[in-house]
Amino acid sequence: MFKGILLNKNEDGTTRAELTQIDEASLPADGDVTIAVEYSTINYKDGLAITGKSPVVRKWPMVPGIDGAGEVIASTHASWKVGDQVVLNGWGVGEAHMGCLAERAKLKGDWLIPLPKGMSTRTAMSIGTAGYTAMLCSMALAEQGVKPTDGEILVTGASGGVGSVAIAILAARGYKVVASTGKLAEADYLKSLGAVDVIDRAELSAPGKAMQKERWAGVVDSVGSHTLANAVAQCRYGATVAACGLAQGMDFPATVAPFILRGVKLIGVDSVMVPIARRIAAWSNLALEIKPDTLDKITHEITLAQALEWAPKILAGAVKGRLVVNVRA
Ligand code: NDP
Repeated sequence: MFKGILLNKNEDGTTRAELTQIDEASLPADGDVTIAVEYSTINYKDGLAITGKSPVVRKWPMVPGIDGAGEVIASTHASWKVGDQVVLNGWGVGEAHMGCLAERAKLKGDWLIPLPKGMSTRTAMSIGTAGYTAMLCSMALAEQGVKPTDGEILVTGASGGVGSVAIAILAARGYKVVASTGKLAEADYLKSLGAVDVIDRAELSAPGKAMQKERWAGVVDSVGSHTLANAVAQCRYGATVAACGLAQGMDFPATVAPFILRGVKLIGVDSVMVPIARRIAAWSNLALEIKPDTLDKITHEITLAQALEWAPKILAGAVKGRLVVNVRA
């Protein structure tokens, strides 16, 4: 038996989440690597799974946790042996395959990447899917040719997990980052991560004109809806927008005008099904570029039991930075 969060569906369709003892025999039979999970995290999607606010869980009962880092304790997969330290992000884990908010996870070896050299399992989970997605967005801007000298980069949902790490990465790369937030009281926090300016997200969240005054050379958006539409409408000629989230909404009430008149590029960023080689590239960038003292500012450590209390808070947009879950505490 091992300790973990277990989700069950009630008769009325709601989700019941509890911290309990789970039988090792109930771990997925199609997993070929068993991990002693040391740290996991609470991402926005974990908040959806634990509260049942959105139907992200596709199999019951389910252990949530789309992220995990720990040590291999059993393996029949050719690439992994007992003692290896590994990282897992996405692949439907915590949604359709039992996840990592538990002391044990049985995963497919094909999904795992090695813990980057010199990185602890705690650091990896302080970064987590949110931070790794922030890196994928930053890589997308660079790949589209956005340079620090091109002008300001807007980061929306700035005080959240993706936003906080995106600010830190982009600022360290020399970009002038403007943070859009609903938590203006956190302006000092956002500046300490490297933002040169902080704006009220209310400037972007209401319906706006199809074309607006040009400002952004690049955008990392984790918010969607009107915020994304306005950000695109304020892009400079040839700017790139990396869109990865939907904290405001899944809709995109925009026109084609910025794309066909200013050559704005909208790049969709997914973290769940990214091929292994790109994951390893993103994680090795993170290992090089994210400084421990920056992560300390971003991270708040909680226990498995506390994860249940924090899940609704992340959906309410009330979490600053990243939550790392010490699974063994
Ligand atoms: P967080 O909850 O940590 O951050 C989201 C932030 O968005 C909040 O902190 C808040 O920041 C802002 N926000 C919340 N509600 C609203 C609203 N109604 N209108 C405008 N802004 C709002 O979540 P994450 O950073 O972990 O994830 C952010 C988004 O990215 C989520 O939608 C998530 O599903 C998505 N995501 C997608 C991935 C992918 O693979 N494409 C991977 C990871 C995340 P502030 O108060 O500063 O404005």
